[in-house]
Amino acid sequence: MKKSLVSAVISVLLCVSAFNPLLDSIHQALAGQKTHYVRSRNYAVVKEIRYWSGATHTRIVIDLDQEVVYKEQLLKRDSALDKPPRLCIDLTVAKLSPQLKEPIPIEAGLLKRVRAGQYTPDTVRVVLDLESVADYKIFPLSDPFRVVIDVLGTSQAPQKEETSKLPLPSQAQQPQPFKLVLDPGHGGEDPGAVGPTGLKEKDVVLRISTKVRDKVRKELGWDVVMTREDDRFIRLEDRTAVAATKEGKLFVSIHANACKDRSIRGIESFVIGTTTNRDALRLAAKENNISPRQVSDLQIILTDLKLNDPMKVIPSRQLAECVQMALVSSLHKRFGQAKDLGVKQAPFIVLVGAEMPSILVEVSFISNHVEERMLRDQRYLDAIADAIVEGLKKYAQDAEMVKGQRSLSASTARSSN
Ligand SMILES: [Zn+2]
Repeated sequence: MKKSLVSAVISVLLCVSAFNPLLDSIHQALAGQKTHYVRSRNYAVVKEIRYWSGATHTRIVIDLDQEVVYKEQLLKRDSALDKPPRLCIDLTVAKLSPQLKEPIPIEAGLLKRVRAGQYTPDTVRVVLDLESVADYKIFPLSDPFRVVIDVLGTSQAPQKEETSKLPLPSQAQQPQPFKLVLDPGHGGEDPGAVGPTGLKEKDVVLRISTKVRDKVRKELGWDVVMTREDDRFIRLEDRTAVAATKEGKLFVSIHANACKDRSIRGIESFVIGTTTNRDALRLAAKENNISPRQVSDLQIILTDLKLNDPMKVIPSRQLAECVQMALVSSLHKRFGQAKDLGVKQAPFIVLVGAEMPSILVEVSFISNHVEERMLRDQRYLDAIADAIVEGLKKYAQDAEMVKGQRSLSASTARSSN
């Protein structure tokens, strides 16, 4: 075979073999000395492993520079060899970044250690050494591609919490009152939606969240953790990780809505779920900062993760109903208008993997001239914050009626069955 023909064959194979080790091997046999070049060009690189470890919930995020195939394997505790339960995730076709060759020791929470190694020439294996495993979920997110692993278990370790690269102030957690996690959407390089006169969603929702935080602490006496307290960018999966590992009992993500049709206005609240509603899908794409096609992929993932379990969805829906109702009635009373767009479900990444009742609230349409003007008014923001607190209080009271000494989420789940 002439050398130019070999090159042409290689070129064709190069196009179709980007993620196929078998074809890649054929390619190597044909290419001979060019093997190294082809491999380095086509292999995904495992760039970073991020983790959050709490007493009963651990989230690991594996960051890659392109898509890979992955599979997991759960290995039980091996008492004879003194090995803890391990969850292994194999990523193919991938190479490990040289910075990740040392194990990451973690002396707190459910996770004991994370290790990553080049298991085969084509496969990177990430191993989580765990205290215990009751359940786990794995799902991919795109743009950039990453694999998220949530592990639930029961820790025998001290109740010390550890987080990685989180811009949160450390807070004393003993003794621990009922805890709310507030998530002001967007931040930093991500402004969220921008109103007709330039008001940014990221600024409005931070103002509202700060007001809610202060009111909840003062009026309800709850502990409040915010996923951000200033203008900074935080990835969506990191926000849920805060809620889970800080052992939040409720999670509320606050946003302002937007639509190309500037006449649209109103208030709507969401719980996690799949939907065929076009407006909800459009909104999910925008809030997730992904394409409509990627939202379709996300819906498949949510179905795989079985997130429609009523035990988990019903408390979230009850929380959403309480907050939505309080917002509509309070803003209507104080400002004479508040369009109720209802409680819906949609695939929001920020709600995926949250074990506690979790909602996303769109407080008004920043794209609407009238509502943007109102969102500039501190009295309107105060009214929104008051209403959210009222809704939280109502939810807590309803849950208290049936819960006894149990947690809010567990009790409302039980009461609904
Ligand atoms: Zn938003």
